[in-house]
Amino acid sequence: MASVDLELTTFVTRKGATGILLQGFKFRKDHQTSVSINWRCCNPKCKARCKTDIEMKQITSQPSEHNHPKCDSRELDLNDVRSACKRKAVDQPTARASKIICTETKRFQNITIKDMHSIANSIYRERAKLMPNLPKERADIFRVLETYLPEESNLSVLVNDPDI
Ligand SMILES: [Zn+2]
Repeated sequence: MASVDLELTTFVTRKGATGILLQGFKFRKDHQTSVSINWRCCNPKCKARCKTDIEMKQITSQPSEHNHPKCDSRELDLNDVRSACKRKAVDQPTARASKIICTETKRFQNITIKDMHSIANSIYRERAKLMPNLPKERADIFRVLETYLPEESNLSVLVNDPDI
């Protein structure tokens, strides 16, 4: 989490895009011109927008009114820790979930056991996305093997003829 301004903080959204935190509200990038970036509130039901300069150093147009309360700061911190854990879980697929959680939650003061369980679940869900779907029929197994063992791979697996 890099601080750009006293008021303007950036974060990474669940989809890996840059977002800004402004006056307790989260904004995601809407569109960008050569001189400015337009942001919209992360709450899909809210129409609040704001504008910054291209370097995200200054707010060039203050946000319009939100139709919902501010984000709770604890929730924001937890989200931040959760996204860091999820990124790490994918970048280091063999690292133990407990280790990732321990490292990432060190800087977070108010972590509870419940939060840790919920982060662990997020890690498992994120890693499950990297895995192929469970085969439903025999032919699926061969399709998976073809994807995961390209021809130039040095690995080999002994399989039955798929047509038998
Ligand atoms: Zn809003």
